[in-house]
Amino acid sequence: MLPPLSHIETVAVHAGMDGLTEAGTHVPGIDLSTTNPLRGVESGGDSYENLATGGTPEPGDSAVYQRLWQPGVARFENALSALERTAGTVAFATGMAALTATLIATVTADKPHIVALRPLYGGTDHVLANGLLGTTVTWTDLAGVGAAIRSDTGLVILESPANPTLELTDIRAVADAAGSVPVLVDNTFATPVLQRPVESGATLVLHSATKFLGGHGDAMGGTVSGPAEWMVRLRQVRALTGGLLQPFNAYLLHRGLRTLPIRVRAQQTSAGEIADRLSAHPALTRVLYPGLPGQDPHGLIGRQSAGAGSLIALDLGSFAAAVRFTEALRLITHAVSLGGVDSLVQHPASLTHRPVAADARPGAGIVRLSIGLEHVDDLMDDILTALLVARVPVGAVATA
Ligand SMILES: *Cc1c(COP(=O)(O)O)cnc(C)c1O
Repeated sequence: MLPPLSHIETVAVHAGMDGLTEAGTHVPGIDLSTTNPLRGVESGGDSYENLATGGTPEPGDSAVYQRLWQPGVARFENALSALERTAGTVAFATGMAALTATLIATVTADKPHIVALRPLYGGTDHVLANGLLGTTVTWTDLAGVGAAIRSDTGLVILESPANPTLELTDIRAVADAAGSVPVLVDNTFATPVLQRPVESGATLVLHSATKFLGGHGDAMGGTVSGPAEWMVRLRQVRALTGGLLQPFNAYLLHRGLRTLPIRVRAQQTSAGEIADRLSAHPALTRVLYPGLPGQDPHGLIGRQSAGAGSLIALDLGSFAAAVRFTEALRLITHAVSLGGVDSLVQHPASLTHRPVAADARPGAGIVRLSIGLEHVDDLMDDILTALLVARVPVGAVATA
């Protein structure tokens, strides 16, 4: 067991790794069993009953069936709980499966009304806006949270930094305004290295583990971390609806956690430098990065989070310039997703935020960069070259 006050680097390396010495291995094995032998008819039935209602196995119990419980997934969950400092975590096949399970748990508790602070991830916005899961939604901002709460409100949802424009929201202020209604923070952009939402009053923390937690662009996953009673409900929804995390992905995501602090900080250092160096560039209308002067008006960095992260949004002023810039990048790959070791660029209004209502969609000139672990000078060279192309339309004479 880890000493309780270990530093986050130490927790990241060792959490969820217990029992290995006894097993005589250095890393956890990957158990691919879809089913597990039962010790007897009655005890097997008891195990099934326990797991299908959201329980976890006692030592010596059968895990029964992979959809109900999986040991490698549980290791990853324990490790993330140690990082987010929550009682538990439930892991799913994707971030959207994690959100879906949370919304189903909310609806089935007769609290189908969601208060959502825009901007949110496009997929989250989409599933809330179309009411697919039986929810109704009130869109608001921090100032409107208190007035938006109703007797059937089950959840307040926010992201900070928000996707894709990177505004910060005061989680503590939202939690205060929400009163007894649980607040779910999508912590995908910040990671527990920079921000632990439960320490600011949030009840639930959601991740697309596909992004920073895995960190290498090769495994999808999603998580919800929070108090024990929510974990029981979410495990039950997972067991019944089947959005479970695959064992091999659980292994990769757990391995990703071990380097999370060092990756997040190195990526953030490069992003800060890039945002600084671009902030006065004539081809850009705006550089959106919470670490730049004036972009954290409430002083949340330092109080709520330990840094501005490694996502930057650039406003090139027009769709045409955004297209020229994106297509001129050579080192930075044009692809959705974020948080991996390699840098990516995408145009949110065309891609991730396409389903968002027109009045809430990010501007057509905005591109989002996810800064990876390449050398910052190589990234700057690529960006500056592409900005030259962005300023001068192909075939035009450079007069301005
Ligand atoms: C990608 C993402 C999601 C959805 O996660 P998937 O793993 O793609 O299902 C949710 N929230 C944020 C902030 C994301 O970036």
